[in-house]
Amino acid sequence: MTLPKTYADRNCPLARTLEVVGERWTLLIVRDAFYGVRRFGDFATQLGIPRAVLTSRLKSLVQEGVLTRDDDSAGGVEYLLTAKGIALWPVVHSLMNWGEAFYSPDGPRRVLRHDQDGGLLDAQGRCQECGSVVPVPAIRVETGPGFQPSDSVQDPVSTAINTPRRLLEPITTPRASR
Ligand SMILES: [Zn+2]
Repeated sequence: MTLPKTYADRNCPLARTLEVVGERWTLLIVRDAFYGVRRFGDFATQLGIPRAVLTSRLKSLVQEGVLTRDDDSAGGVEYLLTAKGIALWPVVHSLMNWGEAFYSPDGPRRVLRHDQDGGLLDAQGRCQECGSVVPVPAIRVETGPGFQPSDSVQDPVSTAINTPRRLLEPITTPRASR
């Protein structure tokens, strides 16, 4: 599935948004960034995406100001969500909810909670325990009853993602030699 690079309707804000995040893999890269993935090799490992495609998508997301490209203390490169990127969270959350509602017969695969009190988030991102709209860094993601562990050996990035953790908390894996 390849979406056209440019959408015809110049007056549609959805079409404009899809020019930024509508290409295959792009929202999965953004999702991984919310899960704390920051390094090229970790995105590549977790998504199983061809490296040339990943390079292209990351470059485009940096150009659009969704991600920033920073040098880390170890001399490597990290990609972090900007405020503009974090503003995509309700979109990612809604698409996750839609998938859970229609394609998760065994229950949710991922469960989102307010880290502070463990309250479940509703579809609008509101904590059902304390009633607050939970800011992204205070959201904890866990695997749910519909989660199906992979048969294959888990890579360290997937293992970290599948362990309860707060969004945006950086995943640190031993740096692979490239
Ligand atoms: Zn709460």
